[in-house]
Amino acid sequence: MKAYDGELNLNKIWQDALEEISKSVSMISFDVWIKTLDVVDLKDNTLVLSTSSNSGKQTILKNYKDLIVAGINKVHSAISDVEIVVENEEDQEKEEDAANVQKPERKKVTKVVSSFPFNPKYTFDTFVVGPSNQFVTAAAKSVAENPGASFNPLFIYGGVGLGKTHLLHAIGNYITENKPKLNVVYVTIEKFMNELIESIQNNKRGANIDFRSKYRSADVLIVDDIQFIIGKNAVQEEFFHTFNELHESGKQIVISSDRPISEMNPLEERIRSRLGWGLPADIGYPELETRIAILNKKAYIERYNVARDVINYIAESVTTNVRDMEGYLTRAVYYAKMLGKDIVTMDVAKEALKDIAEQSEDNIDAGRIIECVCKFYNLKKEEILARKRTKEIAEARQVAMYLISEMLSMPLKAVGNIFGKDHTTVIYAKTQITEEMKKNKKLAVEINDMKQMLKGN
Ligand code: ADP
Ligand code: MG
Repeated sequence: MKAYDGELNLNKIWQDALEEISKSVSMISFDVWIKTLDVVDLKDNTLVLSTSSNSGKQTILKNYKDLIVAGINKVHSAISDVEIVVENEEDQEKEEDAANVQKPERKKVTKVVSSFPFNPKYTFDTFVVGPSNQFVTAAAKSVAENPGASFNPLFIYGGVGLGKTHLLHAIGNYITENKPKLNVVYVTIEKFMNELIESIQNNKRGANIDFRSKYRSADVLIVDDIQFIIGKNAVQEEFFHTFNELHESGKQIVISSDRPISEMNPLEERIRSRLGWGLPADIGYPELETRIAILNKKAYIERYNVARDVINYIAESVTTNVRDMEGYLTRAVYYAKMLGKDIVTMDVAKEALKDIAEQSEDNIDAGRIIECVCKFYNLKKEEILARKRTKEIAEARQVAMYLISEMLSMPLKAVGNIFGKDHTTVIYAKTQITEEMKKNKKLAVEINDMKQMLKGN
């Protein structure tokens, strides 16, 4: 085993360990409890980490210590334990003296009637309607009330985190409740694909028949995230026949996609045309008022006690992804709980949501990001902004789009405008880069470097 030479870079070890640990805990736990720890020292084989409150320390020891140790141990095998200390010992004593040391409460789970496979929280009642989603919501309701009678298929498309899955579940919940005799089948295209592969591999008599009859016996077939069908011929083939059989017998089909039909490439023409047979309806970015209403509704449903300016602050900061926006709200609430406060005030929220604040204070803007990317890839600004399409330029442009939409809360449409492209190109760039970073460590490191450069680190 390596002996300590006094030159171990503890910060580096901790950073690497964080990456490991993040794989095994939920994002919210990671953000609230683990990422906030600081490295203090290394005593023998014990890494000392500090947190800001005693209640935090207790929670970490109880729930996360083993995961933390395992993560650290993976990146540095000689470290086999951690100790958690509270940053300010005086505070700790005071806290311990207080009779009721706050512990983040676990929320009581209220029993709900579950209409498996649908999430009981995703209903029309919990979906906030505004100008950006009025049309698509009306279409979804109409389909839920009269399946097979109006738009077939209903094709819902729009960016990530804008409520597509929520609406699909709302349709499912509504039909299950009001027309219990109907067989409603919900599937993501990924699951459809996996089951198809399984049924082929299984090669048992009947496996394939079971698979087919499951989908072809649906009265309502709901298919989420159909974009993953792109380029997968066997799945397209199977989906084609399923679609035909259902459509011909007047069964309702509802489909969601992260891009419009015209941007689904490559896709067999016979499928493309069918997707457009009914009603394509897009789900847009919610306006500020709608975002505020969504957060208020969420706070009400979850019984969060949140100051009004906090709601406004979050709604103003996150403009293109409702899931992210809700994530920030939850993070602020957990953070307040960790500090033992029962209301989320602006001070607490600002602290919890430092990264949003940093973004806007750092005054990073699209121009600076483009400059940075150009410098990195040794290109001229005009080259990235023009329509030219050598492989290198196209890749750098995708990186720029990715960074701009990651680092700035800017609507995808606006990001697209900078490059004279529409928002679907930006979505595509984001997906490409995200996927590529998973496979290509070098790119992941480069992108991280650019981010750090931009943040002035
Ligand atoms: P998508 O499938 O488009 O990626 P989701 O349906 O998973 O997005 O939505 C992400 C989160 O945002 C969910 O928790 C959903 O309930 C919430 N959400 C999105 N739009 C709305 C809305 N208009 N009203 C209430 N909640 C919403
Ligand atoms: Mg979804």
